[in-house]
Amino acid sequence: MNGGNEKMNEDAIKDIRERIVKVGKELYEHGLVTGPTGNISARIPGTDTAIIKPSGVSMGLLKPEELVLVDLQGNKIRGELSLSVETPMHTAIYRARSDVQAVVHTHAPVATAFGIAGVEILPLQIEMFMFIPKGVPIIPFEFPGSKELAEAVQKKIVDFDAVILENHGVVTVGSSIEEACDLNKLIEECAEVQYMATVLAGKDVINWENLKKKFKI
Ligand SMILES: [Zn+2]
Repeated sequence: MNGGNEKMNEDAIKDIRERIVKVGKELYEHGLVTGPTGNISARIPGTDTAIIKPSGVSMGLLKPEELVLVDLQGNKIRGELSLSVETPMHTAIYRARSDVQAVVHTHAPVATAFGIAGVEILPLQIEMFMFIPKGVPIIPFEFPGSKELAEAVQKKIVDFDAVILENHGVVTVGSSIEEACDLNKLIEECAEVQYMATVLAGKDVINWENLKKKFKI
């Protein structure tokens, strides 16, 4: 690698670190993560490396220098703190989808409740179709940090930008860290809307068949 490329890379790392910190605060303030829960990462553009949140640090208090640089096999390249336990899930997603530049995992409470209840989140509001045209699938429970969870998410994320982990939380991806964050917030909003609509209309009204009729899809 020549000096110019190295400098470009360092600038990209600095940029990504600062953006992850900003987005982390946003997720924290939005109530989608509490304490040290959740994790967030972004690919360094044009490389086989990514920056990821370390374990045990709150997204609300994250500092750029605490973020860890990893390769796409999940090996630490640079950083003092321990890697997020979900690093294998993040790197498995980057290996499966070259278009994905960022991954956000939260425990967004309402969306997580849908994953516990086994109810799929649907694009009930017309503009949600742009983001989740096929709904948000629930991936059957696997333990956090396990190889099985990483593999199950890797398989499903090929067809969806957002998935729910049963009894656990939400994973979203995007072409930028901001986009992955916005999608995570949007999934929570969809879940809130669906929850309220279900209370008002009953769960039998909320289904794909009715949606397809109404939106002519
Ligand atoms: Zn989690």
